Amino acid sequence: MSHHEPTSGATPRRITHLIGHEYWTGTAARTAPVYNPATGAQTGAVDLASKELVDEVVARSQKAAAAWGAMSMTRRGTVMFAFRELLNAHKERIAEIITSEHGKTVSDALGEVTRGLEVVEFACGIPHLLKGGHSESVSTNVDSYSLLQPLGVVGVISPFNFPAMVPMWFVPIAIAAGNAVIIKPSEKDPSAVNAIAELWREAGLPADVLNVVHGDKEAVDALLDNPAVKAVSFVGSTPIARYVYERGTANGKRIQALGGAKNHMLVLPDADLELAADAAVNGGFGSAGERCMAVSVVLATDSIADQLIEKIVARVRTLRTGDGSTGVDMGPIVTRQARDRITGYIAAGAQAGATLVVDGREGPFDGPSDGYFVGPTLFDNVATDMSIYTDEIFGPVLSVVRVSGFDEGLGLINANPYGNGSVIFTNDGGAARKFEIEVQAGMVGINVPVPVPMAYYSFGGWKNSLFGDSHAHGTEGVHFFTRSKTVTRRWPDPSARGLQLGFPQNH
Ligand code: NAD
Repeated sequence: MSHHEPTSGATPRRITHLIGHEYWTGTAARTAPVYNPATGAQTGAVDLASKELVDEVVARSQKAAAAWGAMSMTRRGTVMFAFRELLNAHKERIAEIITSEHGKTVSDALGEVTRGLEVVEFACGIPHLLKGGHSESVSTNVDSYSLLQPLGVVGVISPFNFPAMVPMWFVPIAIAAGNAVIIKPSEKDPSAVNAIAELWREAGLPADVLNVVHGDKEAVDALLDNPAVKAVSFVGSTPIARYVYERGTANGKRIQALGGAKNHMLVLPDADLELAADAAVNGGFGSAGERCMAVSVVLATDSIADQLIEKIVARVRTLRTGDGSTGVDMGPIVTRQARDRITGYIAAGAQAGATLVVDGREGPFDGPSDGYFVGPTLFDNVATDMSIYTDEIFGPVLSVVRVSGFDEGLGLINANPYGNGSVIFTNDGGAARKFEIEVQAGMVGINVPVPVPMAYYSFGGWKNSLFGDSHAHGTEGVHFFTRSKTVTRRWPDPSARGLQLGFPQNH
C-alpha cells in the first residue's frame, strides 16, 4: 500500500482503492476508463474491485468499527471538526477535480461541495443527535432509557452526477455515529472521493474507518451479499436502486436506495412569470440537467403558456455551453454514451410530433470539438405518451406540457411513477397550500425550482424515486445509521425481591 495516489508517469493516470489510508498496490484484473468530458480524452483508468478484495476490506472495516464505535464522542468529534476545516480549505481543489471528470462548471461543482460541507457541519452535532430518552421511576425504583448505537460496517454506493455531495449525504453521519464506512463511488468520476478520503486521513480518522473501494456491479454485489455489512445507502437510477433494495433486503440488510426522477414544475396563471422563466432555465439546465432534482417538465397553464415559453427561450439563447473549467454556463455531458442517449431522445421527441423550439444539438459550443456537448433544448406541445415525457432523460432537455389549470397539473404529477421534487409557481397561497398537501412527492418547492432540503432536514423522494424507509441526512439519516436499545434498570433493592411469573407490569 502507498500513502500517495500512484503516479505512473504515463497517461492515463491510474485511479485506485484507498484502503487503510493507503493506496492499493495490487494489480486489478479489470479497469474502467475515465474521461475528461470537455475534451473527450481518456485521463484515467480506475481499478475495479473483485469480490475477494471487497470481502477483505469488509473484514478490516469490521475491526475498525469496533474500536471507533467504542471511542468517546469527544474524540470522534475532534476528527469531525478537523475534517470540516480541511474540506472547507480544499473545496476549490475538489471542485476542479469534479469538473475534470464530471464536466459540470467549476462554480456548480463548488456548490455541490458546499452542500456536502453542510452535512459535515450537521454531523459535527452528533452528540446532541445521539441523545436517547430517559424516564425516571417508570415503576417503583425502576428507570428506563434508550441508547442509539452504531450498526458496525455500512456501505455507500454513489452515482456520477454528484461525485462529492451524494457521498457526503451519508459518509459524515455514518462515521460520526460510530460506524466504519466502505464507499464505492461511481466509476465514471471516482477521483473526488479519493481526494476527500485523503482529507479524512489528515483529520486523524483512524485507518479503516473509511475505506474507498472502486468498482462496478461486482463490488456492489459483494457489499450487498457480505453479512458483515449491516446497511447500504445507494443513489442511482431507478432500475439499479430497485435491484439494490431487493438484493440487500433479501440478505437482511437495512437499505435506502434513492432512484431516478422526472420533476414537474406547475406554473399557474397568477405566477410571477419572470421568476418562473428564470426558475425553469436554472432548474432545467443547471449541471446540464444531470441532477435528480432537475426540472424536466414545465406544466404551463394554457393562458400563460405562450408568454412563458417566450421568456424561457429569450433566456436560453443567452446560455453558453462548453468546457466547464472556462466560465461557461453549462458544461458537457458526462460520457459519449450519455450524450448520444440524450440526442437520441431529442430526435425521438421531434419525430413524435413535439415542437422543437430550441435544438441543443446544433451548438455552437465553447469547447474542443471532441467534447460531449449538448446545448439547452426546449420542447413545446409535449404529450404524455412521448418518450421525452415518460423517460428520465438526464440531460439538458426541458419539455413543456400545456395544461388547463391546477387540477390537470396536479393530476399529471400524481400519476407519474416518480416522486422526487415537485414544484409550483404561483402567488396564490391557497393553491400552494393545496399543492403541498396533496402532491405525491418527497420534496416540494413553492416558487423554488430545485427544493433540495438543508442538511438538517432529510432528502428523499416517493414512489419510484426511493426504495426503503429512510430518507438521506437530517434526523432520518441519523436513524438509518444507528439502532436503538431500550434499557430497563433497577439497582438492588430488597423490596423488589420475590417471584412473579406474570408479564411485567409497572406499579
Ligand atoms: P447508475 O444507476 O448507473 O449508477 C449508480 C451506482 O450503481 C454506481 O456506483 C454504479 O457503479 C452502480 N451500478 C451501475 N450498474 C450497476 C449494476 N448493474 N448493478 C449494481 N450496481 C450498479 O446511476 P448514474 O448514471 O451514476 O446516476 C444517475 C442516476 O442517479 C439518475 O437516474 C438520477 O436521477 C439518479 N440520482 C438520484 C438521486 C436521488 O437522490 N434520488 C440523486 C442523484 C442521482
